[in-house]
Amino acid sequence: MSEHSVLVVEDTEEIRELVCTVLRRAGMHVRAVASGAQALTEVRRAVPDVVVLDLGLPDADGTEVCRQIRAESECYVLMLTARAEEVDLLIGLAVGADGYMAKPFSPRELVARVQAMLRRPRVPAPVPAPAESVVRLAELEVDEDSREVRVDGAVVDLTRTEFDLLAALASRPGRVLQRETLLREVWRTDWEGSVRLVEAHMSNLRRKLQAAGLSSPEIRTVRGVGYRLVS
Ligand code: CA
Repeated sequence: MSEHSVLVVEDTEEIRELVCTVLRRAGMHVRAVASGAQALTEVRRAVPDVVVLDLGLPDADGTEVCRQIRAESECYVLMLTARAEEVDLLIGLAVGADGYMAKPFSPRELVARVQAMLRRPRVPAPVPAPAESVVRLAELEVDEDSREVRVDGAVVDLTRTEFDLLAALASRPGRVLQRETLLREVWRTDWEGSVRLVEAHMSNLRRKLQAAGLSSPEIRTVRGVGYRLVS
């Protein structure tokens, strides 16, 4: 297995060292910086597979750094927050991080979460995709090869997670996919508590599809269960 690269962005030296140590022990190539500006420089220099990003940085708001990373790269972002309550707030703000952890966190869980992100393939093929790489459903096209989504022919700008969610639904139109199934297929984890994350990314996905003018098919919520794509 090739060595995965992780960028740790954290201004508190003690936490930075701890995170670096546990990730290195897990066999990852780790670089570390202490500010938002350095983080963006590093991401531009060599895109890491995962960025572990502290919310409270001395020179920048972690949410802005996250948005910037999102705009420029395809790497996963795991955001560290000072308090558990901040997680819900951030999910609501649609910052676009792929995961959140509140301090104090267990080093083992941090490693597990980063590893789960690394197991998510850069080019997804875990869902039983049809031989044709483009799924067409009414006004919607989901192209697995180019990882593009089109509504009436116009490309919709989605994050990697949003694309994976939509691709999972589009591969089985009409069928209900449980939130837990989506967690396993898209996030590669059974981690409880992530269900809220599925909901948040799904709501961002819906908003973007609606803004792109998609009226059919539509993502329906099956209350307490999951989601399905209905034409
Ligand atoms: Ca901090």
